[in-house]
This record gives sequence, structure tokens and C-alpha cells, in this order.
Amino acid sequence: MKRIVGMLSAGMCALGLLADGGFSVTAGKSTLLVDTNGLSLTPSVAACPASRATGEPFWALLLEPHAVPAVHGQGVVITDAQQGAPRWEKLPDGVRLVYDTLTDGGRVFKIGLMLEIRGAGDAFTMSGSVTNSAHGWLLTGFTGPVLNGIATDLSRTPALLPEGFGKRINRVPAPDEKQREWQRLGNNYEASVVYPGVRGTMQWFALAGREGGLYVGSHDPLHRAKQLSLRYDPSSKRFGMAVRHDFFCRSGESVALAPVVIQPYAGSWHAAARLYRTWFDSVRKLRDVPAWTRDTSGWLLCILKQQNGEIMWPYTSLDKLCDVADARGLDILGLFGWAHGGHDHLYPDYIPCPEMGGVEALKKGLKEAKRRGKRTIIYANGQLQEREATEFWRTVGKDIAITRRDGTTYQHTYHKYRNIPVYRFDLGCLYAQAWYDRMLALAIQANELGADGILYDQLGMMAPMACYGEGHGHPVPSMAHEVERPVFLKRIADHMRQINPDFIVMTEGLHDCALDAISMFHGCTLGTYRTSASEMLVRLRASRVADPFPELFRTVFPEVMSTIRVPTPMMDRDMVNYTCVYGMRYEIESRYGPDVTYLREDRVPESDDYVHVVNKPDVTMMQATSPAEATRYLKEAIDFQRENAAFFWHGRFVDSQGFTLTGKDLVAKGFTAGDRFGVVIWNPLQNVTPFTLEVPGYALESASEPGRERVDPLAPMAASTVRLLRWKITSTSPKP
Ligand SMILES: [Zn+2]
Repeated sequence: MKRIVGMLSAGMCALGLLADGGFSVTAGKSTLLVDTNGLSLTPSVAACPASRATGEPFWALLLEPHAVPAVHGQGVVITDAQQGAPRWEKLPDGVRLVYDTLTDGGRVFKIGLMLEIRGAGDAFTMSGSVTNSAHGWLLTGFTGPVLNGIATDLSRTPALLPEGFGKRINRVPAPDEKQREWQRLGNNYEASVVYPGVRGTMQWFALAGREGGLYVGSHDPLHRAKQLSLRYDPSSKRFGMAVRHDFFCRSGESVALAPVVIQPYAGSWHAAARLYRTWFDSVRKLRDVPAWTRDTSGWLLCILKQQNGEIMWPYTSLDKLCDVADARGLDILGLFGWAHGGHDHLYPDYIPCPEMGGVEALKKGLKEAKRRGKRTIIYANGQLQEREATEFWRTVGKDIAITRRDGTTYQHTYHKYRNIPVYRFDLGCLYAQAWYDRMLALAIQANELGADGILYDQLGMMAPMACYGEGHGHPVPSMAHEVERPVFLKRIADHMRQINPDFIVMTEGLHDCALDAISMFHGCTLGTYRTSASEMLVRLRASRVADPFPELFRTVFPEVMSTIRVPTPMMDRDMVNYTCVYGMRYEIESRYGPDVTYLREDRVPESDDYVHVVNKPDVTMMQATSPAEATRYLKEAIDFQRENAAFFWHGRFVDSQGFTLTGKDLVAKGFTAGDRFGVVIWNPLQNVTPFTLEVPGYALESASEPGRERVDPLAPMAASTVRLLRWKITSTSPKP
């Protein structure tokens, strides 16, 4: 422990002066030391891992020559270890460090850096700003704070990362193990997520033990680009946690650094989830979703016309699609490939296709779907514009494509069939007015056609990227798919609400800065993919390096609706049960010709039926269950959820909080609903499994299962079944 030679007290927090020129800031009973060796955290919570400075930097500034065209390979990294002692000022709750200039050990840069480290409650917050007066230099990012020297054991204190719906890191990689979750970082390893995008859906992560842990969250109301990194040094067997902020700061500009909160907490990881949600609620609102949306079981995603021009579902067959959805209990039709170009072709020109029946047949089909009680969502890709082939690209789009620093554009391909050409797409820059105008026009068109919403595909997917395009309405360079993306989505959603309050905006993927615009997500992320019983059992063992951990996002944002992702025209019993227990919304997909004969004629395809298809559906899954049985069980499970919508659709997912379950290899999740509490249990095993369940403060009322309205609540669980046990509050004990 460092020797504190002086104290400056103010209220609950105190600033200590260390013998070697460092500082100590207190928050609650925790202490954060700042000195020439870095940051050291002495937490007040026994179960929170401590951090001991190792001499490695606790911040790093990244810069490069601001040359046009840009020059690669001349980046400079400046760290605290290269600087002399900063000026410091005492704050009421901490300390401000001021570096008037910065050096890389040789050169001196006219770059000012100010860092504030404050303690409040049980949390430490580091924030600050950087001012670039260095002519000819461009600042490209700041890493900090960095906590090093964290001694912990992932088997007892796993790391939770916000990739997709969540990921749990259970252990470090073995030396000979193929690196996937962990990437090499010099001699060390790093497991990281990039926010905001599908691989970084929230701005926090944690080392989360059973009794407590360490929360690190960037409380950045602007939701700017950043990377959250868990690090591991195999030689010392110590961990690190770092936040890297990605931005551009030109000479003459300043950037405020997003606050980063370091907070020891007691209890399960749900306490950390509450810390983030409490902050989130202080800066942002979730979208007020139209009532109909909450009452939907999920959707039938249907590609009407494919990339090769094959028409599978003409507009005159939408009633048949309603039949397919009805047989399975699905409430929404997601209409993809509905325009003249087919799926992933000729975007963003979306013209009702004469060969499919033309605009009047489409309107009639959508009206018929409405009469049948279905909701319809019309597709538009939120970023893709096909090069050369579309009028939009030729006249407008090529000038608003997201551009790399070498002047080329970021290009995507989505090749669906081996025997057709590969179409190339640029990405529309969301800053550009022309892109906004086209996307809004498509929403207005969807509403006028009679649809209940629009899906902007892919806008929940991409990580931010640098755009060097001129004339897009942003400084050059800027991060794209970053702060402008939620603004873009919300403007459209708000505009459409004025026209039709029931019209919704959906997107594919997930990230929390879109929550005030998006009413429902089309899942395409960790936690939404097909999960078998055997996969679930592996997760319960926590034996792999990492596991999907959908509990994470579901607990922070239980109101957020997302479909699961099964690009196959059926799902098996395991996936039905998985979707049910996690409270997600269903989907099946009709993508290719053999999918249509499966859905309309119960004909089970062979893999060869998809001969030219690049990414085939899960034929093995389709062959393992008869179409009639797959249809029957999905419908039965959805009917079961509809009957218990108070829990599944209107209730609040609380994960494992509020009840105690014993029973080997069972998955159980809680849902609160007013004075009721529901526990849904899934037995993924192939054998009958007994269990006990206690919900303190509640009395057991009844239980049911799909197809069984009344069951003995505490009877052993039959193989591969789900059950909902309904409890009623009996006391005023606090609800979870
Ligand atoms: Zn741009």
C-alpha cells in the first residue's frame, strides 16, 4: 500500500497526496490510487477483484499525421508513462490532472490533456478532454482508463461482455488453443467488443463473481464509438480492463472524453446490470411501442422474390402466407424481396414488381393480411446501394458512399446463388440528406401500401467506421454509423408516428442507442441463433472458453423485443423451448424455392434441392422433425404464451432473481407481472427431472404447459418440456 502523506477532505470523498507525487481518491470505502505506476483499485467489496498498478500506462493517446491523402503506418502512441508529472488541482470530489503539452519521449506536441478522477457514492469516474493545437496532426483515439494487475479467477469471477445479447468469458485460452474469443495483443490476450453495433450492444462490462464484482461502464450519453477490452497477461496471470474511445480530433479542435465509471458492487451481476440501466434511464428513453407490437408472437420472414429473379410468393399469394402464419401462430409477415429487384438486388430502388402482380395486387394482399389479423412489415436495406445498376447510385448514391481514407468505398456483397453474378453494394452514409430522404420515402411508401412498419435491414449490425467522403454533411474524416445512426432512425420513426401512430420501425441486429427509435429488433446476433438442448447443457457447464449469455441484455432491457434468428422454414422443439424461456419472439423464414414447398405442401427437402444456394437452410433440422409435428408444437407453444401474455409479453424478464430452483440441468427464468410472478422452466434433458422451487413472498397458484392447461406444478418435468408456474404475492417483501 502506498503511503498517504496528506489528506484534503471534502464531504464523503477525500483526496490523498502520496509520498511519490501520486493521488488517492476515495468513493465509499473504496480507494483508487493514481501514480506513476498507473491505477490501483482497493475495493470495499470483498468479492470485487482488486487492481494493482503494474507500471503499464493507464492512458494512451493515438495520433497520426493529418495528411491528404492519408499516409499509413505513421501513427504515434503517447502514454502517461512518457510524461513528466502533470499539474494537479483538487476538486471537491477528486482530482484534476492537467498535461499542458504531451511528449512521445522525443517530440513535444502542442496537445493538452485534462483528466478528472472523481469519487461519488461507490463509484469512481474518469472523464476529461483533449485539445489538439498540434498543426498537421490528427488525434484518432484515446485509451483510458486502463486497469491493470487484476488478480482474479474467471471460473469464479467470469467476465460478462455485451456482444449481442451477451457473452460470458469462462476461462483464459490454453496456450495451444485456437484463438477466437481471445485475440493476441503482443504477449498478452484481449477479448473485446466494439460499440455501438451488434458486437457491442451496451457500453459496459464486468468481472462478475457470485457475491460481487467490478463494473466498468462508459456513461456516454452520446453513445460514441468505443472498444471495451478485457486483457490477460499469461506471464503474470493478471487481467486488465480498458476502454478505448475512437474519435477524430483535428488541429484546432477539442474532444470531451466520455466518462468511464469504475464501480465495485456487491451481489450477483444483476446489480451491475441495474447500475447501467439506472444510468441509461437518466439520459435516454425506450421507445413507446404501439400496443399491437407487444402482443405479437413473432414473424414469418418471407422472401417473395429472390436475388436470381425467382418469384416464390407473388402479391396474389399473401393469403397463402397468412395460412402458413396462422398454422404456426405467427402474427407478423416480414416481407423481404418484395420489390422489382428481388432480395439483395437493385437497392435502394424499391418498385412494386409488375411480374408479381403490381402495386394494386400488393395493396390488396396487404389489406387481406390485415383482414386476417396479420401485421405486415416491408423491407428496406438501411445502408446498401447497388453500384452501377441502380438509378439512385448513378445519380446520387455514388457521391454519398461511405469512403475509406484511400478514397475507395466500403463495399459489400451478398451472393445468394452460385449461378448468378455477384452484385456489389456501396454503403449509404447516414449523414447524407439524400440517403435520409430515400429511406424516409420508403417508409412513407410502405405506409401508403398498407404495411404496419418498415424494417431497415442491417442498421443494428455494423460497428462504427471512419468515413472520408466529402460532401456528406460531416467533417472529414468522421466516424460513420455512430452518433448519427440513432438520430437517423429516430427522425424517421418520429416522422412516421405523426402520419400513423401504429406504424413501427424495425432493424436487424441490436444496440442500445437505437432503443428510442426501434420498436422490435430482427435478431441476428449472439443469443438469437438456434440453440439445441445439447448446446444449452454445455452453457450450463460453463466449460468452454466463452458462452453466449443472453441473460445479460434481456435483464438490462427486459422491455426490448427481438425475434430469434432461424433462417429455415421451421424450428425444432428445443428452439421453441429456448425462445419461450428467454422471452424472445419467434421467427421462421421462407427464403428459397424448397422452403416454399415445405411450407405449402409439407415436402421435406434434401440438401441437393438447394443446389445453387450459397447458404442453405438447416436441412438436418428440417429432416429430424416431421413438418406436421414442427408446426403443431410451435403453434401450441405460441398459444401457451398468448394465454400467459401477462408474463411472457407484458411482464418483466428478471432472469434468476427472486426464486430458488433446485433441479439438475434445468433452465428457469422469472417474469414479474404486477402482483404475480411467473417462473418458466425448460427441461432440455431427454429424461424426467424432479425439482424444487421457492419464491419468497409469493404463494403458488397454478401451472400450465403448452397443450396442458392444468398441470401439477411441482411434478417432475417431462423430457424436453417447458412449464410456467404462476405465483401470487403474499407479503410486502420487495419484488425482484
Ligand atoms: Zn460520410
